[in-house]
Amino acid sequence: MDLGLAGRTALVMGASQGLGEASAIQLAAEGTHVILVARREDALNDVKKTIETAGGTASVVTCDLFDRASRTQLCDAIRKLDRLDILVANSGGPAPGMAPGIGSDIWVREFDAMVLGLIEVMDTAVEKMKHAEFGRIIVIGSSGMVVPIAKLAVSNTLRSAIGGYVKTLSEQVARYGVTCNMVLPGRIDTPRTRSIDEGGAKNESLDVEEIRRRSWSAIPAGRYGRPEEFGAVVTFLASECASYVTGTQMRVDGGSIKSVNT
Ligand code: NAD
Repeated sequence: MDLGLAGRTALVMGASQGLGEASAIQLAAEGTHVILVARREDALNDVKKTIETAGGTASVVTCDLFDRASRTQLCDAIRKLDRLDILVANSGGPAPGMAPGIGSDIWVREFDAMVLGLIEVMDTAVEKMKHAEFGRIIVIGSSGMVVPIAKLAVSNTLRSAIGGYVKTLSEQVARYGVTCNMVLPGRIDTPRTRSIDEGGAKNESLDVEEIRRRSWSAIPAGRYGRPEEFGAVVTFLASECASYVTGTQMRVDGGSIKSVNT
């Protein structure tokens, strides 16, 4: 299947590791020039090197979603691009915490970065895409949007807000050839997942492998997902082939979510 991604340009947020990195590497492997965005320039340059070693092309832009001036700079940089065909909108995981009792200061801070920050970048990108009559907006969410995760009240709530926005946006821009979809990871084996498991092992005085095996047993596939399995779904949604897929939320969770519908 020709994905029609050669010669396109993608901006991938949170590209220094994990799901963003895996998505960037796979898009680059299909011939897309990838603009790698995150906070740490050195880590982004390492990903750039990996992509170039494999024969792809990439560039680096730093942005901290918690910093409004930094977001404005990213949006200005997007406006100046010759083209932008694909946006992978991704952020770090929000502050953990259970309901009730999360402070208003935390809600405001996380909303500003995770929701407003992503909306600013999506809105800037979509203007360019509408003009070009082609665009793919792919937002990384979480299975917690379907089955809330008790310890992640902020994530459950704010990602659902983003879900509402992405669906609303998808209806406004579909006629311009711009699609907007979300991909919902279950447990994918990224540095974030590893550090969560290490924290769990410490809390319970267990070996981390025991914690991982326990998590796997709750997943029908019997294991965590690999980052490249997630990146492959992002890459398909970014492709020409996915031109009639919009306003959806696609799960990549090894069957973890038991319900039929989202
Ligand atoms: P990760 O922590 O490994 O990577 C997050 C990326 O976002 C990194 O590149 C990091 O530098 C960047 N980032 C963090 N804070 C930022 C900020 N303030 N400004 C700009 N960039 C920032 O996480 P991951 O496992 O790749 O997950 C990506 C997203 O998907 C996260 O929001 C995570 O909560 C969510 N998620 C992941 C899983 C999973 O199993 N990995 C499951 C559900 C949801």
